[in-house]
Formats: sequence, structure tokens, C-alpha cells
Amino acid sequence: MDLGGRHALSMARSDQWAAADTGYFRTLLVPAAARALLAWGATQLRDLPWRRTRDPWAVLVSELMLQQTQVPRVLPRYLAFLKIFPTPAVCAAAPLADVLRAWDGLGYNRRAVNLHRAAGVIARQGFPDTLTGLLALPGVGPYTARAVLAYAYEADAAVVDTNVARVLARLGGRPLTAKEAQAAADGFAPAGEAWAWNQAIMDVGARHCRPRSPRCDDCPLAPWCAWRRAGHPAPDPAVGSAHVSGGQSPFAGSDRQGRGRLVAALRRGPVSADELAAVMGWPGDPERADRVAATLVADGLVSVAAGQLRLG
Ligand code: SF4
Repeated sequence: MDLGGRHALSMARSDQWAAADTGYFRTLLVPAAARALLAWGATQLRDLPWRRTRDPWAVLVSELMLQQTQVPRVLPRYLAFLKIFPTPAVCAAAPLADVLRAWDGLGYNRRAVNLHRAAGVIARQGFPDTLTGLLALPGVGPYTARAVLAYAYEADAAVVDTNVARVLARLGGRPLTAKEAQAAADGFAPAGEAWAWNQAIMDVGARHCRPRSPRCDDCPLAPWCAWRRAGHPAPDPAVGSAHVSGGQSPFAGSDRQGRGRLVAALRRGPVSADELAAVMGWPGDPERADRVAATLVADGLVSVAAGQLRLG
């Protein structure tokens, strides 16, 4: 395997460290905290199917599904998707419409378009195993690239998602910039154990360090948590911290709802332009239907020919 990605990450780690708030990172760098986290993870990790594989395709599929969809909704669809598309080559050879059908129930269908495009690149060029190579894939940003490095190749790549960012901000007792959060994760994750460290801190975020009502009493990081030590003063340091999600905007009545309705209808068959507004739930607002449908066409999800809309 080309280790260029690992070297690049090590370099990035020292650069970030040099620029960081050293007091904050000294706190996080207590080796005992990392050991406690790894010991907790060794017995407490949730059994999730993407944790049983090191296949980079299976890891990439899971990461794209989990980007904007919660674990309970991904679980029933993940293995079914991989059964239909077990390799990038199989996915690349399939029509986009088939990939969109297998994506049913996950929402944010643009991810399926990107996955199909990425499969085409991988089928032609092989699966990248460096940060630069992964970032060149459609739909793969810094978070997903690091996740594939950590989970498929077990490289020393710390991954900062919304759960991890919340834990880090509360541990430090103040909101973090994106650079600080990444530097904190890089400094905290022990070399050679990034896979286990990432999984453990994500589960601490999901099960203990929840957005509301954190369960601090049995949190493995409680002895090192500045926010807990201070008595959980307001404001919560996770609020406004980089990478911490503020929650999704309301779905009902949104353009996203209309897009979802149209894609759901198109999974069953073509829709004529005359039916569009009714199918999208806006029978009295055909202009809105046209405008929102045009975004699906621009994203490559929908094509139009002879007055009919189709998937792909
Ligand atoms: S002690 Fe509480 S606030 Fe601190 S990391 Fe653990 S769950 Fe989060």
C-alpha cells in the first residue's frame, strides 16, 4: 500500500500542533484518557456491520450513507445495498436509476449520484489509499477521506464528526474552531490505534455525550472533562463549536420534502411534466415544482425527455 497518505497526515498533525492552543491540547494528551477510552471501547462498542469489514468499498458506502442519515435508518439498507452492489465495478456498470432505487429511504439522494460516480472512477483507476487520492473522488470530502483511511486501511487518521466534535469541545470546556478540533483529535488518538480510538470516541458521543442530557456519570472520559468539572455551566461548549451539527431544518413543507416525493415517485416510473406539481405536493404552485425539479436535473438525479421525467 502506498503510505503517502499516512505521511501527509503526520505532517498535517505537526503543523496543526504548532499552531494550536497548547494548554488545551496538553489536557487532552493525557495518555491515561486515551487508554481509558480504548479500554471502554474494547468491551462497549456497538456491533455495527461496517465495523466488521476493512473492505474500502464497504467502508465508503457506509460513510456516505451515515453522512446525513442516522444509524437506525442506515442499518436495514446497508447490507441490502452491498448485496446488490458488492464492488465498485458492479455499481459503476449499473444504471444510476438502479443505485437510486437501492438508496430508497436514506434521503439526500445526491449522495447516491456521487457514489455512482465514485464507483466509476474506482472501477477505472483502482481504490485510492492516500488522502489526496480519496479527496479526488466525487462526493468525498476531508471527513470521508479520513474515515476511509482509518476504517479500511487502519491508518493514523483521526476522524471528527458531529459526535466527536461535541465530546472534544466539552472535554476542553470551550467551543473549538475546525482546526482546533482536528488538532485535538490528532493529538488525542494514539499512534497505531486510530481505528479503535475513532470508534470508541464516536460511541461515547452517541451514547454518553449526547446533545441534551449527557450521561456523564458512567462516561469513560469523565475524569478529564473540563465542562463536567466546572458543573456544566451554560452555554454548552459544544453549541457553536465547529463540526457540531445544529440539527436539520424542518422537513415538512421544505423543498427537500418535494424533492423526496418526486424521487420516490420516479422510483416507481416516469412522471409527466403535467403531473409534476401534484406529485411534489404543491398542486397550486407549479412554479415552485418546476424550480425544485430543475435542481434535481442539475444534480444529475433526474433527466427530462419528451415531457417525461425519469430517474438518472
Ligand atoms: S463527562 Fe459528560 S460532558 Fe464530558 S465527555 Fe463525558 S458525557 Fe461528555
